[in-house]
Amino acid sequence: MKVDRIIFATGNAGKMKEIRMILSDLGLEIQSMKEAGVDIDIVEDGKTFKENALIKASAIAKELKKRDVKAVVLADDSGLEIDYLNKEPGIYSARYLGENTSYTVKNANLIERLVGVPDEKRTARFVCAIAAVFPDGKTFHAEATIEGQIGYEEKGENGFGYDPIFYLPEYGMYSAELAPEEKNRISHRGKALEEMKKVLKAQM
Ligand code: IMP
Repeated sequence: MKVDRIIFATGNAGKMKEIRMILSDLGLEIQSMKEAGVDIDIVEDGKTFKENALIKASAIAKELKKRDVKAVVLADDSGLEIDYLNKEPGIYSARYLGENTSYTVKNANLIERLVGVPDEKRTARFVCAIAAVFPDGKTFHAEATIEGQIGYEEKGENGFGYDPIFYLPEYGMYSAELAPEEKNRISHRGKALEEMKKVLKAQM
């Protein structure tokens, strides 16, 4: 199927940067929703990361169809699952304590909720589901996780969101301490995008 670009359904600059880095070798222009001139409100009312990713990608694809744009639309839905908190904040990660609340506050709150909880019960993971919708309506899905633990304080200056409290025991450092290339190589989004890249290559 011939497509002339990839449009990624996110307004998050941090994510967009990671996505461009990972998909650059596809040789297709990669645009954010904003760059593609699409500005619609999407209600993410799915019950899983996968459902939400598909809701976002399908809504944008529908909009682009009206404009006769031949792009493959990708959307991701990702979040942090903390086992001790029954997988909170999960699909509500961006909205946790309110969409406009800073991550300094969100992160401090999560650390506070885990006071007294020992290392072995602080397990958590980032999950990322990616959906792709082609102009002919075909859809695809990829999903990946990265396992870690919630730390005791914020550490590191890289990344975004919950990265400063997400400790990676295998690496002996926090997600926000990883170099961007390193994070892309091992992260939930990096792994899901690599898988999606294979799907896209097979389709083009
Ligand atoms: P989404 O934009 O609905 O997928 O929301 C994802 C939210 O999950 C982000 O706003 C962050 O709060 C969190 N999140 C997802 N991936 C990461 C990551 O790689 N690092 C830190 N936080 C993340």
